[in-house]
Amino acid sequence: MGIATVNPTTGLIEKEFEPHSPEEVQVRIGEAAQAAVQLRGTTFEQRAAWMRAAAEMLMKEASRLGKLITVEMGKPIAQSVAEVEKSAKAMHYYADNAEAFLSGTSLENPAAVGASRAWTRYEPLGTVLAVMPWNYPLWQVIRFAAPALMAGNSGLLKHASNVPQSALFLDTLFERGGFPKGSFRTLLIGGAEVAGVLADPRVKAVTLTGSEPAGRSVASIAADHVKKSVLELGGSDPFIVMPTADIAEAAAVAVRARINNNGQSCIAGKRFIVHEDVYDAFAAEFAQRMAGLVVGDPLDPETEVGPLATRSGRDELVELVEDARGRGAQILAGGIVPDSDGFFYAPTVVAGLSEDMRLVQEEAFGPVASLYRAKDREDALRIANQTSFGLSSAVWTRDEAEERWFMENLEAGAVFINGMTVSNQELPFGGIKRSGFGRELAAEGIREFCNLKTVWKA
Ligand code: NAP
Repeated sequence: MGIATVNPTTGLIEKEFEPHSPEEVQVRIGEAAQAAVQLRGTTFEQRAAWMRAAAEMLMKEASRLGKLITVEMGKPIAQSVAEVEKSAKAMHYYADNAEAFLSGTSLENPAAVGASRAWTRYEPLGTVLAVMPWNYPLWQVIRFAAPALMAGNSGLLKHASNVPQSALFLDTLFERGGFPKGSFRTLLIGGAEVAGVLADPRVKAVTLTGSEPAGRSVASIAADHVKKSVLELGGSDPFIVMPTADIAEAAAVAVRARINNNGQSCIAGKRFIVHEDVYDAFAAEFAQRMAGLVVGDPLDPETEVGPLATRSGRDELVELVEDARGRGAQILAGGIVPDSDGFFYAPTVVAGLSEDMRLVQEEAFGPVASLYRAKDREDALRIANQTSFGLSSAVWTRDEAEERWFMENLEAGAVFINGMTVSNQELPFGGIKRSGFGRELAAEGIREFCNLKTVWKA
């Protein structure tokens, strides 16, 4: 399938698109480069006014856009509308805070470096390319675009091929808010065309959110051209439950952590690591709750879990579970493909995992939870850190020493204590190990695509 909306609930093609021709791509890069020059000369105040206007437009269309997101990738409708609202909020956040985040610093004692004054200032880099995934078609793009544009950059978007209508909505959003023509441009291209765009000298940097293979490929192309890259890749986040935790609450939150966005979130709790003293109680409660979830049409407000976004994504998930089942794992809930033309998979809990199973190392991108029994906190930490990912993590404990110990030793970009990982514009977001590098959101996110210029004056 090329660039098309395929409704994952029905399996039917809703709309197909011709990719942009090489000539059209050149025009779009040119417009973005031209806009970058213009944006450099604008004030934070001007950009903030345009950003707020674009956020208001987004909110006016929240209901239509929410439906579009659900039709393109299958998340339950309330979550789609919430994604639109969250995106608008982040746009206001950067409109309000960009200037303060990029105010730079002055040296207190410039004489120490032989200067009368020495300071730093943040300047835009120019045109930044964003390669984005389909799982949050709006939010993933806005969390790049709002800070990038507020910093005075322009943006180019290569969105996932299965969310072209969301991508085309974003193509005009910022201009409709008042930004100069070309400040943000969508390229309807395949992954193979990214190398050519990134090689173009008018493109100064790249950010990619997606899988590890895509990240590796794009970062190596960026390195070839000595261009900055930020990578937000996959995760297989641990969700650790220790004996002092409130087990019923932990199990209820664990279900939400696993099935939010139909389980297709990089920061979803994927591996549930439970101390043996409370393992049986947690496993029973968790499996029962997972089995009781309402699976169905994501446009129905009662639905808790919709289809996977693509047939291939669903089939890969089935392979992971069947590999574990074939090697002796127990299926405590789900493990079945419902009879439907859509790309559904029943919420599933797998226990009794051993290291020869793919589920132990690979990311399960869908409603499949792995359960691990840990002997003590050292064993829990060993299991948590045994994958090559390091995105986020969650720990449930009421023991403060234990809380500190996990916080210090978990190999992850974030630790959420007695809760589930969520992204929020005010919290830096990103991973270590093979989950990527660089940070999005908060002050750190807007500084990624700036030149931190040092000024020294005699
Ligand atoms: P994906 O296959 O890597 O696709 C992501 C984007 O990269 C799409 O636009 C895709 O285009 C493009 N792409 C794929 N291969 C490429 C290549 N070789 N060169 C250039 N571009 C390429 O990932 P996905 O399946 O859409 O998304 C799921 C993954 O994203 C999961 O691993 C998830 O954990 C991760 N993710 C991470 C974060 C985070 O913040 N860390 C957030 C969300 C998702 P096409 O669609 O045209 O192939």
